[in-house]
Amino acid sequence: MVRMRACFMVRETPYCCDMHVVWDWNGTLLDDLPIVLASVNHGVAPYRSEPVTIEDYRTHYTRPVKRFYDALLGRDVGNDEWIDLDSRFHMAYRQKLDKAMLAAGAREALERAARVGLSQSLLSMYPHADLIPLVNEAGIEHHFDRIDGLRGPPGDRKARYLESHLDELEVDATDTVVVGDTPDDAAAAAEIGAACVLVDGGGHHREVLEATGVRVASGLIDAIAPFLAS
Ligand SMILES: [Mg+2]
Repeated sequence: MVRMRACFMVRETPYCCDMHVVWDWNGTLLDDLPIVLASVNHGVAPYRSEPVTIEDYRTHYTRPVKRFYDALLGRDVGNDEWIDLDSRFHMAYRQKLDKAMLAAGAREALERAARVGLSQSLLSMYPHADLIPLVNEAGIEHHFDRIDGLRGPPGDRKARYLESHLDELEVDATDTVVVGDTPDDAAAAAEIGAACVLVDGGGHHREVLEATGVRVASGLIDAIAPFLAS
């Protein structure tokens, strides 16, 4: 595949290289925040009287996820409760998943990136066997040179997956920009020496994304705009 040379800014330092875009799935290409919030509320319903708002979610969401529930319930959640909360969340999420839509601008961003010759792939920490049919159903799989989901235990580090994803693609990390929605995406990119852009409007407050030091974009088109303009 012929890839174009693109210029962009990372921490105000401009540089140019052959670029590859690694897209995140949940919260980035897939706008699943509404069903995530609904599923959290289903999970906590037996334990909390007030519904969890999007502001509550953005303020308290953290990993490990048990600590998120500790914050929502205002106390240390016991092990049996944690198992129940997690199980209720995942059951509700799977039931609601057909209501999740591609994020605003997702198709256009993928098409415009392809049009200017950027290579693209998808790396998610969502289970691989569940991810593939979702991407196929969305009709966007043809944009990606490679699609990888989680093949190991839940909670594994994204950096390790990102490194092997790029190895399989034979793409250098220094030629790669990760487009994601969480500080975890920025941390994974930084750990292997890739650039990162985080998209605002999801499950984190903008200042949390900005604190990672990477560029924060207002949407998916904005995220890749520097590459499209080159
Ligand atoms: Mg994500």
